[in-house]
Amino acid sequence: MSNIKNCARCGKMFNYIAGEVICDACKKEIEEKFQEVKKYIEENPGSGLKQISEDCEVATKQLKKWILEERLMFTENSPIQITCENCGARIQTGRLCAKCKATVTNALNATVQQRQQALAAELAKKQKPSDSTSGMKFLKT
Ligand SMILES: [Zn+2]
Ligand SMILES: [Zn+2]
Repeated sequence: MSNIKNCARCGKMFNYIAGEVICDACKKEIEEKFQEVKKYIEENPGSGLKQISEDCEVATKQLKKWILEERLMFTENSPIQITCENCGARIQTGRLCAKCKATVTNALNATVQQRQQALAAELAKKQKPSDSTSGMKFLKT
């Protein structure tokens, strides 16, 4: 099964497999750019997003994407201030601090557990329909 799509970056047709709609050549270019940016930040920890964007010839949008993907890290003295979306704490990369990330993960796990319990309860109800009717009768009296 072939799935031909146009690359979102260069417009070339390519055989799409999964993930972003970007051809292999562009993926390789983006990866090379990423390594360049990473090295640039290591060598110039004091530069801001705009400067990195200009010096490395990469869109700030792409830089922000790498930050959200937790690929780019910034040191304490970097002018690039990334803060936790939840509590506002200073973080080095991504969107949440370690503490909030743990909370979110726990909440997610709790939701999954609740859903599984609700599903199990529903299944149990379906298996014993007489039980729920007798319960209704009880409520009416
Ligand atoms: Zn492309
Ligand atoms: Zn936080």
